[in-house]
Amino acid sequence: MDTVTARMRLEHMLAQLDRSIAILRRDALTGWDRSPADAGAVLTDADRSLAMLEAAGEQRRTVLAALRRLDEGVYGRCADCGHAVPEGRLEARPEAARCVQCQSRRERRR
Ligand SMILES: [Zn+2]
Repeated sequence: MDTVTARMRLEHMLAQLDRSIAILRRDALTGWDRSPADAGAVLTDADRSLAMLEAAGEQRRTVLAALRRLDEGVYGRCADCGHAVPEGRLEARPEAARCVQCQSRRERRR
């Protein structure tokens, strides 16, 4: 994937994430504001929104990091082993910072 396409897709992802973060943030806030009568259900909703908000924020950081790698001219290289990340992987996940091997090694370590 050429860097122009990659940047376009990443910026598109960023715009979408910003939109869902705005919606989730609003949902989380209205959840907390509602009457204490149904606080139980509302808290669960707000908790879910907060969890999704956290995941979206995490993804947003990943996309921003990928855009930074584009700026630095190292986009498409694995952040761990330095080898080229396969084209198919970047097609599926343009924000991927690592090749499949390094990514799964990293996830196993958690
Ligand atoms: Zn690697």
